[in-house]
Amino acid sequence: MRIILLGPPGAGKGTQAKQLSFELDLAHIATGDLLRFNVSEKTVLGLKAQEYMNKGLLVPDDLVIQMLKERFMQADVKKGFILDGFPRTIQQAIALDDLLKNYNWRIDFVFNLDCSEKVIIQRLSGRLVCKNCGANFHISNMPPKRKGICDLCGGQLYQRTDDNEETIRKRLAVYQQESAPLIDYYTKQGLLRQIQADRSQKEVLEAMVSFVKCKNDCRAL
Ligand code: AMP
Repeated sequence: MRIILLGPPGAGKGTQAKQLSFELDLAHIATGDLLRFNVSEKTVLGLKAQEYMNKGLLVPDDLVIQMLKERFMQADVKKGFILDGFPRTIQQAIALDDLLKNYNWRIDFVFNLDCSEKVIIQRLSGRLVCKNCGANFHISNMPPKRKGICDLCGGQLYQRTDDNEETIRKRLAVYQQESAPLIDYYTKQGLLRQIQADRSQKEVLEAMVSFVKCKNDCRAL
């Protein structure tokens, strides 16, 4: 199974992709995580990407597409995957379609996580991320048991440099301009499923799983 998660920053794509990939045994491909890894390792790609990321802008398509092509060559992708944060532009979606053709693969679902701006800003400005395992917490909605420490692995929690109100607003504007047209792109392909993401993590996950199960049941009939 191959799934794309769309939605504005803060809609919960990362958290949901982690849970859903665990539930369905799929590889989780998060371009934001891959880019942040490159930034922390100071690779050539990371050095180029950093200035865009700090400003809340998209990293140029050619760099991200190349990074995805390399990720697709890894063995775990064969079992199926969830794309989290890719595609973010129509050009990336077209490049993905071409790449899928090369492998004779197709996308089964595109879930659009829909969320209000008010909820997004509240979520992102209080978000805490584990440096070690990438788990997400929130200063008030979901505080860790021990301040600054991940409940799951004991890693250190930090606030992403792009999770400040000014950069969040920029990222939302970029989303509206560059990424929102993808909703139409995948609706036309008959792949899009709307998910109301203002709800609890559990409810959002259940909504996606029920779409997947329904499809599997229909196949079995
Ligand atoms: P995310 O972790 O998905 O919120 O992504 C963090 C930042 O990484 C974004 O604000 C962009 O600067 C960059 N980024 C992640 N994925 C992409 C992509 N598919 N295309 C361009 N830039 C991306």
